[in-house]
Amino acid sequence: MAAASITPVSHASILTGQYPYHHGLRVLHGLYEYRLPDAARTLAEVLGAAGYRTAAFVSAFPAGSRFGLDQGFETFDEDFLEASASDVVTSEGTVVTGLNQRRAAETTDLALDWLEESDEPFFLWLHYFDPHDPALLPPEAYLRRHPVPRGTQQEVYRALYDVEIRYMDEQIGRVIDRLAESGRLDDTLVVVVSDHGEGLGDHTWWGHGILYREQIQVVLVVAAPHMPAGRRVRHLVRTVDVMPTVLELADVDRPDLPAMDGESLVAMLAADTPDPGYTAYADAVNTLAPYGRDFLSLSGRREDMLFTLLDGEWKLIHHLKHPEDSELYHVSSDPRESENLLASRPEEAARLLGELRARDFLPDLREGPGLSREDLRRLKELGYVE
Ligand SMILES: [Zn+2]
Repeated sequence: MAAASITPVSHASILTGQYPYHHGLRVLHGLYEYRLPDAARTLAEVLGAAGYRTAAFVSAFPAGSRFGLDQGFETFDEDFLEASASDVVTSEGTVVTGLNQRRAAETTDLALDWLEESDEPFFLWLHYFDPHDPALLPPEAYLRRHPVPRGTQQEVYRALYDVEIRYMDEQIGRVIDRLAESGRLDDTLVVVVSDHGEGLGDHTWWGHGILYREQIQVVLVVAAPHMPAGRRVRHLVRTVDVMPTVLELADVDRPDLPAMDGESLVAMLAADTPDPGYTAYADAVNTLAPYGRDFLSLSGRREDMLFTLLDGEWKLIHHLKHPEDSELYHVSSDPRESENLLASRPEEAARLLGELRARDFLPDLREGPGLSREDLRRLKELGYVE
């Protein structure tokens, strides 16, 4: 489970092993803190200190240095911010100039060049953005080979999403192939993880930003040297578990590291283990306001801040400003989160709310410096703000 469905917030949790209330990056934009504080210790910083070469090739503005996600990387490539325009085809077929994101193939080309020249050991973060929204589609030649069928808006969106994932998957394949050709794959830990999913029409929501399963349940694939292949683990785990897992597999011990919220999953990777019974947390701080009143009334929602706790059986989505809008789902029998049981099972709601409150989950509402007009324009071009 991801710790948020907002790109920079969720990435910060992957890269620090901490929930947002510990690493401090709470929002994409707005009044509050949206920059990973220097005090945070990222995976790149820790591996860099342990002698790793570190590089990141990111594909979009919300995963970039503006949010402090470059912390600890020797090489941090987000050249698309200045690059001359690449063609971007919108879902309507209009070609616009997109400077705020780039396709997987471009990012992969750069990363492969870097891999060619880099010594070992190395830590490479490859960030892809293609399935993020339909604003940036694969190249036209690719779409001709993998046409999107006609249908309802939801069918087309879902088909586009699949094509974009397929396109990205093939690019990840290029990286794996190159590692194999150069004889390094058997000695390389590969983690494929996502920052969030997409609504695609479920719960009257097309994109991401809130806390239903389709938005925060993500893929996590780990291929590690000397670990059995092809196993499937059904226990609830979190993206905050990625960093402790990587550090254990890399045998990097950092006693000075701030406490992480995640746990190492190495035992689970190695063999069948009983479910450790983890709880997963995620939040959506100040994320509804920017969508605008029309959007919210269309989806039947009010501006709020959302906090969720999931214990594998029950899930509470706590609405901070309007607690009466809060939601309780029995996810083991209702995985689609369709029946709100808040009124009929108040004792479960109270238990989870108590556990939530025991965490220091409330954002301290420090006012950030605010985004520049330029930054707001970038977010607007990516469809984030009205
Ligand atoms: Zn994202």
